[in-house]
Amino acid sequence: MPSTGSNTTHAHAIIVGAGAAGLTTAIFAARRRSEAAVVLLDGARKLGAKILASGGGRCNVTNVRVTPADFCGGSPNTVRRVLDAFPVDQTVAFFREIGVTLHEEEDGKLFPDSNDAHTVLDALLAEARARGVRIVHPARVTDIVRDEAGFCLRVGEALWTAPRVVLATGGLSLPQTGSDGSGYTLARSLGHSLVPTTPALDPLVLEGDFHVPLAGIAHDVELAVAAEGSKPLRHAGALLWTHFGVSGPVVLDVSRHWHRASLENRRTTLTANLLPGHDFASVERALLARTESQPRTFLHNALASLIPARLADAILAHIHLDGQIPMAHLTKPDRRRLTRALHDWPLPVIGGRGYDHAEVTAGGVPLDEVDPATLASRPCPGLYLAGEILDVDGRIGGFNFQWAWSSAHVAAQAL
Ligand SMILES: Cc1cc2nc3c(=O)[nH]c(=O)nc-3n(C[C@H](O)[C@H](O)[C@H](O)COP(=O)(O)OP(=O)(O)OC[C@H]3O[C@@H](n4cnc5c(N)ncnc54)[C@H](O)[C@@H]3O)c2cc1C
Repeated sequence: MPSTGSNTTHAHAIIVGAGAAGLTTAIFAARRRSEAAVVLLDGARKLGAKILASGGGRCNVTNVRVTPADFCGGSPNTVRRVLDAFPVDQTVAFFREIGVTLHEEEDGKLFPDSNDAHTVLDALLAEARARGVRIVHPARVTDIVRDEAGFCLRVGEALWTAPRVVLATGGLSLPQTGSDGSGYTLARSLGHSLVPTTPALDPLVLEGDFHVPLAGIAHDVELAVAAEGSKPLRHAGALLWTHFGVSGPVVLDVSRHWHRASLENRRTTLTANLLPGHDFASVERALLARTESQPRTFLHNALASLIPARLADAILAHIHLDGQIPMAHLTKPDRRRLTRALHDWPLPVIGGRGYDHAEVTAGGVPLDEVDPATLASRPCPGLYLAGEILDVDGRIGGFNFQWAWSSAHVAAQAL
């Protein structure tokens, strides 16, 4: 690529991708060196579409407590160093500085007081512009080459040059927002490898039609994902039945484990304990206690006092138990079958909804290919990586944005 000429623009630093990570990298870099020409290139016609879609349109900016245990993917030590370098209190202060005050909701989630993701996006864009960041879009980078003079990036017919480049191109989730995975190709062309990607925080599709009449019901469960050859992983939280299968926070959290096991061709089962906090024996005791205290209560009614009534009906029908018998008539073998059903209800997953519905991407550029102190690329001097392009995915609750803000800060300080 020739890197001089009338269609070539030079900058001190070019950030590719103006999502959460790219916007904040640009802001932090421009705040640190106000005289530097910081350019942000993004392929999307509409900036920040993912921020606007986040948190149900309210943007769950971060969480009161964020630790490496909230993330999967590469090295927890690198994740810890990055989070420690720009922790939650500094994130909250940064947003306050740019006019976005946050409040806490259930499970420590922090949302803007406006309850509107536009507030977050508008504040980030205003701060970037106020700091002199040049935001260019739509400007999809299709090639990056590096020589001794620095980097040369191609955007259509135009060329952009800089001694330092940050890749903040995200993953593959919600590709219509611009995050189409092309950043991985750019990273590879500059010497990086790639941990294979799968959707994460992805609703799961179930076989059969058991779930169909239950669509819309939400309740707490404990899910166990058991991949052949590994100990089952357990997550508790709210499950939502849908017309295609299951969703809700706990399903989204376990989906990455299901996808990773499938990627490795390991047979995986997903079961739901419909009475979270109970083991097999205590589920059976709960049924026995109802038989003793209310022997004439119909089985359906007894069960409906433990789980949603429509789910109780569906389970009884599925295991061929008559809900109209009094509890006193429930035989020991039937009680055992019902206990098993309540404790280990199988969810026959046939796949996920995919990147069009998944909130994040698991996999990406391996963390051992970046310096944990700066997020500088090891194979390509002058290149930095921030955000979801790296092999880090967080659980639901504001953790993925915190990774974006923290990794952006680390990369920007080093720029
Ligand atoms: C529906 C939904 C809801 C979510 N809700 C939350 C939430 O409430 N809280 C939370 O913590 N996380 C949430 N997430 C996850 C969070 O949005 C992401 O983890 C985060 O946005 C990742 O930021 P990023 O900047 O790394 O990547 P992205 O936000 O994906 O940004 C990447 C940018 O790079 C641009 N780009 C890509 N390739 C190129 C190229 N070749 N040239 C130029 N530009 C390019 C894209 O156009 C895009 O603007 C949600 C995700 C989704 C999909």
